[in-house]
Amino acid sequence: MILVLLGAPGAGKGTLAAEMCSSFKLKHISTGDMLRQNMREETALGIKARSFVDAGKLVPDALIIEMVRERISMPDCKEGCLLDGFPRTAAQAEALGAIAHVDMVLYLEVETDALVKRISGRRVCEGCGAVYHISWHDGDVCPKCGAKLLVRDDDKPETVLRRIEVYNQNTEPLIGYYREKGLLRTVDGSGTPEEVFAAVRGIMEKRV
Ligand code: ADP
Repeated sequence: MILVLLGAPGAGKGTLAAEMCSSFKLKHISTGDMLRQNMREETALGIKARSFVDAGKLVPDALIIEMVRERISMPDCKEGCLLDGFPRTAAQAEALGAIAHVDMVLYLEVETDALVKRISGRRVCEGCGAVYHISWHDGDVCPKCGAKLLVRDDDKPETVLRRIEVYNQNTEPLIGYYREKGLLRTVDGSGTPEEVFAAVRGIMEKRV
């Protein structure tokens, strides 16, 4: 089963994906996390991607498509995967359709003002990757693993607005694309993580 999570930067895709993958048999494939790991390890892909990611721009389609193609063919994706942050352009959506059968697209809907507030308060653990918001966890140490909490380089205010613009231009059209295919389910992403997950659980249970 292949599920796609669609939503603007800060809509809560990563938080929801973590919940979903621990409750359902799905492997979380986050292109943002994969790119950041490549950047940390300074792989050839990471070196190419860095200037785009840090500027809030999209990494070129060819690089991303190849990265996802390789990843979803691995054995741990056999039972199903949840794509988070991919596809982000029409070309990526077309490529995904050619690689695999998409079962459902969950669109996490959140207003722009709320997105900016969420991203500007986001802290990410440098050890385990857990994500927090200063409104509910204001420390600088991860309660799960004890490592330091950091602001992501691309979460700085000027880059955030750029990312939202890039989303509106490139990724938002995919909502219509998947709606026409009858695959889209819209979820109100403005509530707490628990509320959002409860809505998604309802949708998932109706499917089976
Ligand atoms: P967010 O959804 O909060 O913007 P992500 O962690 O998904 O954050 O992505 C961070 C950055 O990684 C993006 O701004 C972009 O530069 C790059 N990126 C991630 N996924 C893709 C993709 N599918 N296509 C192009 N660039 C991507």
